[in-house]
Amino acid sequence: MELIKPEVKQRVLELRQLLQKASYAYYVLDSPIMEDAVYDQLYRELQNLENQYPELVTPDSPTQRVGEKPATQFNSVRHNIPLYSLENAFSIDELLAWDQRWRRQLPPQTEVEYVCELKIDGNALALTYENGILSRGATRGDGVTGEDITQNVRTIRSIPLRLNVEALRAMSLTERVEVRGEAFLPLDVFKQINEERQKAGESLFANPRNAAAGTLRQLDPRIVAQRRLDFFAYTLHIAGMDDASIVNTQWEALELLQKLGFRVNPHRRLCTSLQEVAEYYQYWDTQRLNLPYMTDGVVVKLNSLKLQEQLGFTQKFPRWALALKYAPEEAPTRVENIVVNVGRTGALTPLAELRPVQLAGTTVSRATLHNADRIAQLDIRIGDTVIVRKAGEIIPEVVRVLKELRPPDTKTFVMPTHCPVCSSVVVREMGEAVTRCVNASCPAILKAAIEHWVSRDALDIRGIGEKLVHQLVDRGLVHSVADLYDLTADKLCELERMGKKSAEKLVDAIAQSKNQPWSRVLYGLGIRHVGSVNAQLLTQKFKNVEQLAAARISDIEGIYGIGREIAESVYQWFRISANQALIERLQTAGLQLACTEETQAVEKSNQKLAGKTFAITGTLPTLKRDRAKALIQKAGGKVTESVSKKTDYLVVGEDAGSKLAKAQELGITQLSEAQLLEMLQQ
Ligand code: NAD
Repeated sequence: MELIKPEVKQRVLELRQLLQKASYAYYVLDSPIMEDAVYDQLYRELQNLENQYPELVTPDSPTQRVGEKPATQFNSVRHNIPLYSLENAFSIDELLAWDQRWRRQLPPQTEVEYVCELKIDGNALALTYENGILSRGATRGDGVTGEDITQNVRTIRSIPLRLNVEALRAMSLTERVEVRGEAFLPLDVFKQINEERQKAGESLFANPRNAAAGTLRQLDPRIVAQRRLDFFAYTLHIAGMDDASIVNTQWEALELLQKLGFRVNPHRRLCTSLQEVAEYYQYWDTQRLNLPYMTDGVVVKLNSLKLQEQLGFTQKFPRWALALKYAPEEAPTRVENIVVNVGRTGALTPLAELRPVQLAGTTVSRATLHNADRIAQLDIRIGDTVIVRKAGEIIPEVVRVLKELRPPDTKTFVMPTHCPVCSSVVVREMGEAVTRCVNASCPAILKAAIEHWVSRDALDIRGIGEKLVHQLVDRGLVHSVADLYDLTADKLCELERMGKKSAEKLVDAIAQSKNQPWSRVLYGLGIRHVGSVNAQLLTQKFKNVEQLAAARISDIEGIYGIGREIAESVYQWFRISANQALIERLQTAGLQLACTEETQAVEKSNQKLAGKTFAITGTLPTLKRDRAKALIQKAGGKVTESVSKKTDYLVVGEDAGSKLAKAQELGITQLSEAQLLEMLQQ
């Protein structure tokens, strides 16, 4: 037998204790202490360790139990048929693995249908009807024992108190019917409740699911009635159903539930292949954001009830169903080390080297810790378990430390006093959070500057990647971006894995970059705060480098969209003699440091939104506010913070604010994000 290391035992214990604590806070107190995605990930870690070392499994482990036994004022009820949880999966690969697993129990090539349903993020209820009349409503509890909340269930309008008798007669249903489904709070009601709680100084509900659970457990049914809970039915048990064979499939059950008077979610789909299931899952990944209630995934069930019966249940889940959840944007992982990166501006950025973790569909193994203050504020130590977030295009960052899981041997991080690359003393100016290496010839700064110069939005020189840049700098071939233009194929051939042909191609690509317009060259210089949009704004006003170099701060600041900080940064850059020398060398090399007629014409033709003023309100479905603003400005449009008579268009997202009312009053054209993107593409 494999000997179990004490660290593993310790970790299992830690995870179990933390998950138990979280589970109690979540199910009993309706007040979670961590995000669901974090719970799921820690649960998986425990599950994996228990699979590897089955002797560590205990009956009270969260992996062995459904929910929690409720500590409640309501009477407890025993469920005739247990209410199970669902096995979780987070990717199509895991869906395929689940399919393989249940197939092993059936004859090879068994053909099946799958029913896909939205996974409504609410609370499971078990409703009992006797002779067609609602006689009991109960929560799931720990799956075996729930709470009798019949009084509250009666207030939910979408739950019929009496089943549709016509359907009943037609189907000749017998005395006892049990219906299961999800009670949930629509998102607008959830928001409203939290607003009211905030006003009353009460703690807020973390999510609609906890708010629904809290509401279902209210002692006063009048309050429950006010809260407009809703309900989707998804399971039907009819006493003696096997004999009667009234329904044979989950699909038929859903249809019958609808006939009996229940709300059944309309977005269900009957699929004949896993390909279709995967399509459904992918479709709802984005579309779910437009639904008025919360879903955290889709539920896939085998359609045939006979097959379901054959496959049965594990201790916790049905084998014939799977909850396919969406990739989380936050997850816990361990900080294995903290290293320091020196960037283009000399800023020393501490980076956490992480145990690789899947986040928003990518593997993350590094996250920024921003600066020393941030590390101190979060109290992150090497060895800690932390929560990492990666939303959309954002660089992964550490958002918090799970101190409960801190091992005794963590190491604190100290910001170095010397640059880790060139060893010169680093500087942290008064009032600044950033520590910088101020050695202008620090190889790290030079390397980052060259990587920026060749990048796609700058000079777009293909074929020069990080490794090549390192070689060029380390071998002393390049001391500034201007040196790139002195490189010859013969010199490049000295580098590792560089053949004559590739070298010639590279020299050619470098030469081609001399045709890139002035705005890209300016962006490529890497002046602080001058991103590609600002570079375009600057070059629209200053037609050549001489004009820009001679400009006063007030001239630069006068450009719409350029603030004082940017103006000062540009002004200071041109005052440094090394930068002036660089400009001279680039000029000699033949780079475009002025707007040519041709570039002006191209830029003009790109200015689709020139002369138009936009305002933005609410959260756009995919674009961040800054990004939308930058796109409009790049196309020549103006973006203002408020709506006035001068506004041509208001881009409207979800939860639009007062700007929408103002725009309606003034009769201003409204645009959705999609319409804006269409305008930009035309
Ligand atoms: P689950 O939420 O992962 O899935 C099972 C539940 O899905 C069912 O009980 C049912 O209520 C619901 N469901 C919704 N739509 C359905 C449909 N169409 N068909 C069938 N069922 C449907 O599992 P769970 O056992 O209810 O809860 C476990 C989850 O709760 C964890 O994965 C975690 O995300 C969360 N949790 C969080 C914390 C925390 O601290 N944040 C603690 C404990 C549990």
